[in-house]
Formats: sequence, C-alpha cells, structure tokens
Amino acid sequence: AMRHLPYFCRGEVVKGFGRGSKELGIPTANFSEQVVESFPSDISTGIYYGWACVGNGDVHKMVLSIGWNPFYKNIKKSVETHIIHTFKEDFYGEILSIVIIGYIRPEKNFDSLEALISAIQEDIEEAKRQLDLPEHLKLKEDNFFHLPEGKIVNNH
Ligand code: ADP
Ligand code: MG
Repeated sequence: AMRHLPYFCRGEVVKGFGRGSKELGIPTANFSEQVVESFPSDISTGIYYGWACVGNGDVHKMVLSIGWNPFYKNIKKSVETHIIHTFKEDFYGEILSIVIIGYIRPEKNFDSLEALISAIQEDIEEAKRQLDLPEHLKLKEDNFFHLPEGKIVNNH
C-alpha cells in the first residue's frame, strides 16, 4: 500500500452518489472519475491519511477512502476525502489538493451504522496522531499547496 506514497493529487470536487456521508457527520469530497482514473491502478483500496486544501485555503488534516464505486458496479474506484475541519459551506466545483501520506487499514464491512461510525472516528484519531509527527508535518508546508500551478502532480 505504501509504494506510491506520498501521492500528490489535485482535482475538482464533484457530486458523489449520495450515500449520506454528510448525514453521518462525515462528509466526503469526491473526485471525478477522470481524476480517479489517473491514480495508479494497483493502489490498495482502504483508508489513508494525509493533508488537504480547498482552493487556496488552509491546509488541513484529512482521512481518505479509496474504495470500489457502487455507481460503476464496483469495477471502478472512488476516491473520497474527509477533511478534518468544519467548513461554513459546501465546496462542490472547487479544486481540492491532497497529499496522501500513509495507510490506516483495508476496507471493511460493518454490521451496523454505529460500528461504521466508530471505526471512522478511530481512523480520524489515528490520522490526527500520525499527522502530528514531524516527518508528516513537513508535507503540510509543501509548495504543492501554495503554488497555483504546483510543480508535482502525480500523473498530470
Ligand atoms: P456527496 O455524495 O455529494 O459526496 P457527501 O455527503 O459525501 O455528499 O458530502 C460531501 C460534500 O460536503 C463535499 O463535496 C463538500 O462540498 C462538503 N463538505 C463540507 N465539509 C466537508 C469536509 N469537512 N470534508 C469533506 N467535504 C465536506
Ligand atoms: Mg462524498
């Protein structure tokens, strides 16, 4: 899972398939199919942590899921970023820049909504702890987040 990391990526936030993430209190900003296609095809599905920024905004901690996209009968992947920050408004159509730094766990099925939510809360806590480490904090300051035309964008 770590072979492609850190992985830099930028793309527009598109409408997802309404699985009600926001209702669970954990909205996930979805990348377009085109951006997902640009990911290494052998990148592992599962939950990752890293840094994210919307437009020219501040850089925040994030957890990210790479999963199978039910809209495409699970033959295509979806990439969804939950930014660990409270935004005043939705940001569909904006450019989301992320760097994926580390892997937390594989995808899982949960017996209940409560079990799913508590697993995600644990993922968020793990992401927060990891991202406080000096080696991970460094990437927060990466020029990728500060230059409009970032120098490194994997596969772009
Ligand atoms: P969708 O199915 O359209 O992705 P979600 O319920 O997953 O709907 O909500 C995602 C949207 O919520 C994002 O596209 C973004 O505009 C908004 N949003 C607000 N706060 C956040 C956040 N902290 N992290 C991610 N998205 C957020
Ligand atoms: Mg979503």
